[in-house]
Amino acid sequence: MFHMLEERKSGRFVVPGERIGVIEEFIPDRGTYVKDGVIYASNMGYLLIDSVSRKVSVYSLSREACFPKVGSIVVGHVVNIQSAMAFIRIIKIGKRFLSGFFTGVLHISDIEEGFTENIFDTLKLGDLVRAKVISEANRTFHLTTKGEKLGVILALCSKCGGVLKLKAKSKGKGRRKEKNLYCEDCGNTESRKIASDYGLGNL
Ligand SMILES: [Zn+2]
Repeated sequence: MFHMLEERKSGRFVVPGERIGVIEEFIPDRGTYVKDGVIYASNMGYLLIDSVSRKVSVYSLSREACFPKVGSIVVGHVVNIQSAMAFIRIIKIGKRFLSGFFTGVLHISDIEEGFTENIFDTLKLGDLVRAKVISEANRTFHLTTKGEKLGVILALCSKCGGVLKLKAKSKGKGRRKEKNLYCEDCGNTESRKIASDYGLGNL
């Protein structure tokens, strides 16, 4: 059962009626239905399993064009960080997952309220981030993570790759000078500009 689970994590393509798993394993979410304790796909698309919340969903890839627009809430991975900006590969716009991808630019001044001294205290490579599009001038999608609901939603330990957990004390906002995340596996602590629902598995 476990190696199948790994396979599913990679976004296996499923068709309606295809068996995904059982309710003891996963929490059925969008694009699925349950019959006699077994979870099936109700849509054609790719499986998405959130390893933290155990929610399983099927997202369909629409052929319609879907572009980020000013005001869009997007989710993406940090793919590159420079001293003054980070590049986010967008995997979701609004409620829709993308087959292709766009890259958004997050400038250091748009990461959090107030002054950010060091971008690496707020984001790291590979982090999953929720952001808002603030400009699409010259086909460059400029993003912001200012605001309570925006910021890193999942981060991995830069030492061992474990999922970083929220320190109980640091829920919500607060200065990031203190390290607000910790690794259960190796004890490492790190700081991020997190969204208020960090680690809850909401994309
Ligand atoms: Zn670790």
